[in-house]
Amino acid sequence: YAAKAGREGVHVYVPDPHGGTGDRLRTMEELRTALTRDDELLVHLQPQVDLTDGRVVGVEALVRWNHPTRGLLSPAQLLPAAEQAGLLRPLTDTVLELSLRAVAGWWESARVPVSVNLSAANVSDLDLPSKVALALVRYGLPAQALTLELVEDTLMGDPERGRTVLGQLRRLGVRTSIDDYGTGYSSLAYLRSLPADELKLDRSLTQDVGRDPRAAAIVRHTVALAHDLGLSLVAEGVEDAPTAAVLAELGCDVAQGYAIARPMPVDDFLTWLATPRPFLLEQARP
Ligand code: C2E
Ligand code: MG
Ligand code: MG
Ligand code: MG
Repeated sequence: YAAKAGREGVHVYVPDPHGGTGDRLRTMEELRTALTRDDELLVHLQPQVDLTDGRVVGVEALVRWNHPTRGLLSPAQLLPAAEQAGLLRPLTDTVLELSLRAVAGWWESARVPVSVNLSAANVSDLDLPSKVALALVRYGLPAQALTLELVEDTLMGDPERGRTVLGQLRRLGVRTSIDDYGTGYSSLAYLRSLPADELKLDRSLTQDVGRDPRAAAIVRHTVALAHDLGLSLVAEGVEDAPTAAVLAELGCDVAQGYAIARPMPVDDFLTWLATPRPFLLEQARP
């Protein structure tokens, strides 16, 4: 639930394993400093593959903080501090910058777009579309090089404004993706009015499709719904090849998860991308 606390609108007190409120305050100050430097925040990249042929069709950028004394911190460890300190907008600016810089490194040789996660503070930011447009120009990238992910709850605060911001981003040509689909509060109502190109089905629904017919039924129907709405369906949290095979069978378009690769540093991803490997579903066949 720590990750959920990072999304605005959901305020959960996450016990800090490193101590009490004093430590939390220190973390917030340290993060503020880290955001002004360019050597502590980084992204790890996790590939997404087409389930029909194994092609790499995208990569998700996941923020990490290389803390001077505490080591590599995960989003669950840093997002709550970022939210409390009101630093989610600068954090996204940094992640966007790091992600586009990474894509610019391979775009000429591989047309693999990057997905960046947004929080509620970003979706309510009327300056986001122009910030994104300028960042794309700075890296000489077309808008198709970027996908922005948001969870449905992100829009709850000010749905009207959120739709305006997302609409402007899509007019630029940036793709939008509904993350962790199936865990929000009003999935269907949002789907109807949300400008999006992609649905990412939450791991809690995808991981059991091999053993639970009810999970499989939900996935099958969500695939049909997504396709009827013209959205592509990404299954997240795919941990093994047999599960990927069932998800492919159920019509999912794209898979992301440990079965394909764990999130990795940018340099490792470049090596991964350049290394030929058998298609995941070949391994699933007996
Ligand atoms: P998410 O966007 O749903 O990202 C997927 C999370 O699931 C990542 O955790 C990833 O490492 C993990 N994951 C991927 N494949 C598997 C798998 O096969 N099995 C399991 N058990 N887990 C898998 P991570 O990196 O800890 O990120 C957690 C959440 O933090 C993300 O969930 C996203 O909501 C948020 N987040 C990450 N980076 C950013 C960011 O730059 N900005 C914002 N606002 N949120 C971020
Ligand atoms: Mg995501
Ligand atoms: Mg997700
Ligand atoms: Mg998730």
